[in-house]
Amino acid sequence: MTKKINNFFYYFLSFLLITSVCGDDHIIGGIFDENYGENLKAFKTAIQLTNEERSGSQLKDVSEFVRPYNMFDASVKTCELLDMKVIAIFGPQNSQNFEAIQSVCDAKEIPVIQTRWNFRSKRYSTIINFYPHPTQLSSAYVDIIKKLGWSQFVLFYDNDESFMRLLELMKLTQKKTHLVVTRQLDPNEDGVYRTQFKEIAESPIKNIIIDCRIEILNEVLKQAQQVGLMNRNYNYFITNLDFHTLNLESIRYSNANITGIKLIKTDMKLTEDFKNLMCNGDKEEVDSPASSNVDNNVDNAEECSLSTSSALIADAMSMLNQAITDLEARSDIYPEGHSCSSPNTWKFGSSLINIMRTGKIEGRTGLIKFDNEGFRSDFTLILTEVQERAMVDIGYWNLSKGVQIERHAPFPQEHINKDEDEDPTSLVNKTLRVITALTEPYCFLKDSSDLLTGNDRYEGFAVDLIDEMAKLEKFSYNIILRADKSNGARNSRGQWSGMIGDLINHTADLAIADLTINSERADAADFTTPFMELGVKILFQKPRSAPPNFFSFAEPFAIQTWISIAISYVFVSISLFIMGRVSASEWTNPYPCIEEPEYLINQFSLSNSFWFSTGTGLQQGTEIAPIGISTRMVAGMWWFFILLMVASYTANLAACLATEIPLELFTDVKSMVERADELKIRYGAKANGATEKFFRDSKDHPVLGKVFKHMQEHPEDMPSDNSQGVKLAEQTKYAFFMESTSIEYEMERHCDLNMYGDFLDRKGYGIAMRKNSTYRSRLSTTVLKLQSSGVLEELKRRWWQERKGGGQCMKSVDSTDAKPLGMSNLEGVFFMTIYGLILAFVFAILERILYIITLSKKTKIPLLKAVKYDTKFFMNFDSNVMPVLGSNANLDEEQERDNELETPKSEQMPYGFIITSKEQLDMN
Ligand code: GLU
Repeated sequence: MTKKINNFFYYFLSFLLITSVCGDDHIIGGIFDENYGENLKAFKTAIQLTNEERSGSQLKDVSEFVRPYNMFDASVKTCELLDMKVIAIFGPQNSQNFEAIQSVCDAKEIPVIQTRWNFRSKRYSTIINFYPHPTQLSSAYVDIIKKLGWSQFVLFYDNDESFMRLLELMKLTQKKTHLVVTRQLDPNEDGVYRTQFKEIAESPIKNIIIDCRIEILNEVLKQAQQVGLMNRNYNYFITNLDFHTLNLESIRYSNANITGIKLIKTDMKLTEDFKNLMCNGDKEEVDSPASSNVDNNVDNAEECSLSTSSALIADAMSMLNQAITDLEARSDIYPEGHSCSSPNTWKFGSSLINIMRTGKIEGRTGLIKFDNEGFRSDFTLILTEVQERAMVDIGYWNLSKGVQIERHAPFPQEHINKDEDEDPTSLVNKTLRVITALTEPYCFLKDSSDLLTGNDRYEGFAVDLIDEMAKLEKFSYNIILRADKSNGARNSRGQWSGMIGDLINHTADLAIADLTINSERADAADFTTPFMELGVKILFQKPRSAPPNFFSFAEPFAIQTWISIAISYVFVSISLFIMGRVSASEWTNPYPCIEEPEYLINQFSLSNSFWFSTGTGLQQGTEIAPIGISTRMVAGMWWFFILLMVASYTANLAACLATEIPLELFTDVKSMVERADELKIRYGAKANGATEKFFRDSKDHPVLGKVFKHMQEHPEDMPSDNSQGVKLAEQTKYAFFMESTSIEYEMERHCDLNMYGDFLDRKGYGIAMRKNSTYRSRLSTTVLKLQSSGVLEELKRRWWQERKGGGQCMKSVDSTDAKPLGMSNLEGVFFMTIYGLILAFVFAILERILYIITLSKKTKIPLLKAVKYDTKFFMNFDSNVMPVLGSNANLDEEQERDNELETPKSEQMPYGFIITSKEQLDMN
């Protein structure tokens, strides 16, 4: 039921389509591969262009997509198109689908137009193939190779089809005139072509022919470049007719001689119009000198380019249009007998095919005409050559004339910037081979490097640096990796290894890594101004922490602080004792019920004063409570002092207990070397690096010479790269002599490693190039520009502290900062206490004076006498009991005894003697 409804709709739509076109319009069908959208676009554009030229009936397009290798689908879709009365079908690129379409169209005598290489094309079928005939194409290859004078070459083929295309070339070997090596590009189908190229790199053959799909051609050439097959010694012939559509940015400066062929006449107005209409939907040229023989849009080649099949579709449409017009002039063309289910054929089909086969037009792909067997055998191939600035047409091939080379100037002079061209130091548009190594953080392989190609596979400080320089100087570069990570050392025969060797051997043009500038290297290569300053230091494990100290409770305060606290304690206690005596308020009535006591007592005896300071100092308190202003002030100051001291102590105690005191095994290279045997410390540096060279040059130095001797005797302590040295330092008792910049990098990531000692030397890293390079000063200036604009600093911060695990160890550095509090931290508290005591003392004296004045008034004893008596008692530090002046006595009696007081006698009572204790007072 559903099927019936579908069929109904299908026939209804077909009917609508057919009736919607005016009676004379012709329907042209197109069946394209799903992944060839560009062909559909070309098909529609060609119909649009053709209709502009037609005066009467119009061409209408109907199209379908088929999945590759789906012959059933292809035949069903062909029948669908036939039901829509198509008068010709443009077929797909996939050969199997095409065959299915062809067999249907053969039966119905409907012309099928093909635009691809097809060695199975049959004579007298309904196919009209606009692609050059395979046999002619092969003979063109042979002619070109002969013209290029290649007697030995390698043939790289991609698949069975490309193998077939190259058969004629392979046959050359039978004639014994040529040596032909044949290799499949990707036998494992893993997209790695380097293996095949490496093999060729080791052979003496320098001529390479590549026949492969356009989709992989760029990658193939890139990989050839990666293995060193892209230089002036190598010649290439690329057979793909779409070679001109590639963006050859990565190889155009390679100096290799690369020749290609194309069918499209890119310099033709017809071609330009069609291309512009396809790309921009507009025929107007954007910026295309149609008269030039140069594809000077090489840079934009991939943005908008016309493939051979699209140009052939356009040409085929022109020819079909011409044939239809011709046929229309003879009779009325109408669709009939199209249906696949009908046994009839289309009666105009064979006429249309014959008119096309016998006609000729000048199309975008040159002269189009067919031989008497119906094949396009008379065609012209344009030879192109990859030059630095563009792909240039250098000649042509055709059947009658063979290969004709007519070299033109590489590029019209007006396109060349004179200044750049004349300046030999200019790097503009040059491609430099930059060698580096996977040394952290200068170069890393990106995580997704398997999916990437070329420079995109790498990241790191060196990669960013060369990128910044390339942007400033407008050059391009290809990164090459030095697998053994060797920067370069000279052997006893004076030969250079590592990256310096690569520069000398012309394997690379620039070397960027942690490449230290030293005198030996500067003799062999040129260096830019240093982009980084450094020196040799020691990388070793952080000191283990010492076991906790017996006196760790005392650590919060420095020793001076503890002594000052003790002095303050004694000082405050004595002050209390003195002020207790001086302050009148501290002399109290021992029997409060006796209103007028005969003697007074004082609580601040010496021992009580010390006890008071102790109790309050330990924040426990005592029963003694000061009464006088002065003593209260002293006590208050003491409490304040204690409060601050306890707070400071408690705060710092936590930090001090958390702090591990490091147990340093050595502090510098001298102490390390001296204690190395005793502590069983091994040491070394990167083998064949600048650090080893530094020690070799210092072998007469008493300490550094000893280090070098150790290095010579213990090659096992000389790792071949920094990462191995770092591992040794982390896992064993190994001191690694390393450059400070590298140590800083490692310390950001390995928190248990530390840098020791002073700089043993001062040097820098530079970008190296061959001796007497013309661009040395230009690159040095570029480095200086990057330095002054802060770019280098920013790159260093990015690759040292931010990326790839940087900044991990910052916290642990901060947490080890607890220090005992010294006098400088606490002197304010001490001074406050001292000033408080002085003030209290002043108060004590004032209070005493006031008391004596009041007393003298009350007892009528003259002031001087009162002072004299009073002083005598309170200055008696042996006793804390004092008789009350004026009690039970009159002034005369007191006066009488004045003289006796001069020489006191204990038996004289009640005044004029010193009462040493309360008992004695009671007794008297
Ligand atoms: N930067 C050194 C060099 O250029 C490598 C590391 C080292 O020797 O410490 O060879």
